[in-house]
Amino acid sequence: MAIIGIDLGTTNSLACIYRNGRAELIPNELGEYKTNSVVSMMEDGSVLVGAAAKERLITHPESTAASFKVWMGTERLISLGKKHFKPEELSSLVLKQILQDARQYLGEPVEEAVISVPAYFNDNQRCATKLAAQLAGLTVKRLINEPSAAALYYRHSMQEQGDSQMMVIDFGGGTLDVSIVECFENIIEITAIAGDNHLGGNDIDRAIVAYFCEQNGLSMEKLDSYALSSLYRQAEEAKIALSQRDAGVSVVLMQADNRYSMTLTNALLRQLCEPIFRKVRTVISRAMKDRPREGKINEVILVGGSAQLTVFCDYLEELFGRRPAIRENTDEMVALGVGLCAGIKERAEDLQDLVMTDVCPFSLGVATYNDTKDKNPHMAFLIQRSSMLPASHQDNFYTLFNNQQKLRFEIYQGEGYHASDNLKLGELEVRVPPGMAGQQYATVTFTYDIDGILHVSARSSGGDYRERMILNSRFQPGDAALQQAHERISQIQLAARGNQEDQLLLETAMRLYTQMTGNERERVAELIRYFEQNRQNGGLIQMEKARHEMRKQLAAIEIYLYADPLAMKFWWDDDDDGEDDE
Ligand code: ADP
Ligand code: MG
Repeated sequence: MAIIGIDLGTTNSLACIYRNGRAELIPNELGEYKTNSVVSMMEDGSVLVGAAAKERLITHPESTAASFKVWMGTERLISLGKKHFKPEELSSLVLKQILQDARQYLGEPVEEAVISVPAYFNDNQRCATKLAAQLAGLTVKRLINEPSAAALYYRHSMQEQGDSQMMVIDFGGGTLDVSIVECFENIIEITAIAGDNHLGGNDIDRAIVAYFCEQNGLSMEKLDSYALSSLYRQAEEAKIALSQRDAGVSVVLMQADNRYSMTLTNALLRQLCEPIFRKVRTVISRAMKDRPREGKINEVILVGGSAQLTVFCDYLEELFGRRPAIRENTDEMVALGVGLCAGIKERAEDLQDLVMTDVCPFSLGVATYNDTKDKNPHMAFLIQRSSMLPASHQDNFYTLFNNQQKLRFEIYQGEGYHASDNLKLGELEVRVPPGMAGQQYATVTFTYDIDGILHVSARSSGGDYRERMILNSRFQPGDAALQQAHERISQIQLAARGNQEDQLLLETAMRLYTQMTGNERERVAELIRYFEQNRQNGGLIQMEKARHEMRKQLAAIEIYLYADPLAMKFWWDDDDDGEDDE
């Protein structure tokens, strides 16, 4: 039974396996390595995941969700139609789809995985990720930080293994991670981590949409969800197009016979990205300050989709005085690294001497009170950020008043002076024997495991002992709510009726239908009917021909729609001789 590696991304998720001496990406049923982390609820209650679901962001925005990873570890509920889901439940549906495709591709059962998380994920977010896996029926062998996985892969694939210090910048859809990595031979040591869990390509898209509305005198809040999703999609497409060619790209919105538009150029994009890049800069300098040893950075490794932006590379060039190289597999590097990590877990022989150490991204401690009147406790840190994992540390805490019966510890993560400025992870209480204030005490031990998850125990001078893995209260294992969530998720079927590509073609056509008007729209409707008919009645050959035709037509419509919206009336040529260009 195989262990697979999964890069569970905000925007895209990938799976990878280590076999035949290398990390090998696993394609989904559509033959793609990337599966969009988008989930859509169908009318019959089944769930669509991936590219077809992404199309439904425009046609069925109310029953479709994307980018829910940014809410992991929070109580936020996301609705798909009438049903509400927690972020980890939606992530578990993505995992279910990835697993189903991996099983099919590998032809063997898969029940164990290594999953990557942003390095800057806190304890709640990590636990939510583990829970998502559990709900999908997976055992997590290890959580690995995304930039660490990328560094592992990068280093492993390098011919020369000399001494070097690298910076990994992972700039994805919803998160930014910056890590400093020291390497010597086959030892990879992550020495500092900094990040922002709410900064990524999504913010760039939002800035473009906001600017569009401002320029056109529209109120973003008043746009309906169809118009908004269409703008977001165009913003993303325009942004990506600008990394490939430096010509203006238009974004257009039709609203009640009014046509609104703007042209996005790299100069404008740079201007819109400026506040976002300033935040990136803060994170980079923090990682640099936190590293334990000085020394030159030999290499900057760019990871993630947003790192491919031309304007981002320009910005980094200004910052570093040298342009970081974009490598071919920028957005696959994390997945490949997670695949390697799965290989290490499986004890693949050729990976045996590969060693990687990681650090914890946040400081951890308990709230302490100066005296009985203290209402605003401050932090006593047991583990400082950037400590090497696994880390363990203990400290004694004394009673504050006479005959105090118990000591209660509130556990926090974060860098703030006051406990209230940090993230509360949980509580632990131990009984103490009667005595004078300051006489009885408890020894608290913090252990931060290799997955970046905290375990806390406390033993009082009276011998009372308590311990727990710090999980947000709603995640306690064995709890009835967990059981319920599990049942709820297992009941949801993945909408994989028939061929996934057919589903995607149809959803794409329906999206284009909503984006067009008048005659053009009617033509798309004809195309949908033609395809549906073949799907119901056609033989195998007929169906393959229909797919072929559908792919060709949709691609043509797409090109015209985005190239110049006014030219779209020309995309359908009745005299088309039907010749293919293949
Ligand atoms: P995640 O790891 O968060 O799932 P990815 O690393 O796949 O995300 O990056 C997704 C983000 O990258 C999206 O915001 C997308 O718009 C953006 N993106 C993808 N390709 C490009 C490109 N060529 N140029 C600029 N941005 C891109
Ligand atoms: Mg990523």
